[in-house]
Amino acid sequence: MSDDGGPFRPLPETRRRAYLDAMGIPWWTRRDAPPARAPAAAPPDRAAAAETGAPAVAAEPAPAQPGTAVADMDLPALEAAIRACTLCPLCETRTQAVPGVGDATADLLIIGEAPGQEEDRRGEPFVGRAGQLLDRMLAAIGLDRETVYITNVLKCRPPNNRDPKPDEVRACSPYLRRQIELIGPKAILAVGRISAQQLLETGETIGRLRGRWHRFGPRDTPLLVTYHPAYLLRSPAQKRKAWEDLKRVREQLRQGR
Ligand code: URA
Repeated sequence: MSDDGGPFRPLPETRRRAYLDAMGIPWWTRRDAPPARAPAAAPPDRAAAAETGAPAVAAEPAPAQPGTAVADMDLPALEAAIRACTLCPLCETRTQAVPGVGDATADLLIIGEAPGQEEDRRGEPFVGRAGQLLDRMLAAIGLDRETVYITNVLKCRPPNNRDPKPDEVRACSPYLRRQIELIGPKAILAVGRISAQQLLETGETIGRLRGRWHRFGPRDTPLLVTYHPAYLLRSPAQKRKAWEDLKRVREQLRQGR
């Protein structure tokens, strides 16, 4: 297997090792290779630097025309509609809605569960501890949050990070469907059980859903399930499996070029 980061952005060996270190995954080297030296310093962690609290969105997009159906909205209008949404009671407890972040034409769409406390505060998905691990996982395959698009099944934080309720998922699902339609990714990475079960409309366990490609939606978009980084923080032994998932994603994106 090539370990140069592929067509997206070749990773120098020292950085690749630093990212694998950060994920807690041992480096692999040829048995007859000379002993590897540890990198002098870890690469700058963009997400950690961003913890200073810069606003996620510099300028407000123009609101959609009143009465515009979600199915007719472009991405800026959709994001504005999500920010203004009052379709379920979560609008009363959120600080702000969290539409998504990244490249509107991304090859890879990452879908998590719902904003947590830090995401609710900053208006950007996956910016807490789990998000920092997600950033490192992406970096390990030569991607970052500017070259993918990241969003959640729910756009508003459930109180105390409880599981989403069916009514909340139902209210939010047109937004997610439109995001998927507009971005038209080459692959979807469903992060965590809730995301996987909602997207695949199944009650199967994540252990049974991960490890193979599924298909999603009218375009039969390849969809892979992986563990939620919050779970990986609690169960680092599973990072090896998450790394297998990431390599699958990298391969799929290469093939889809
Ligand atoms: N967990 C998620 O599923 N999504 C986020 O945005 C943050 C944490």
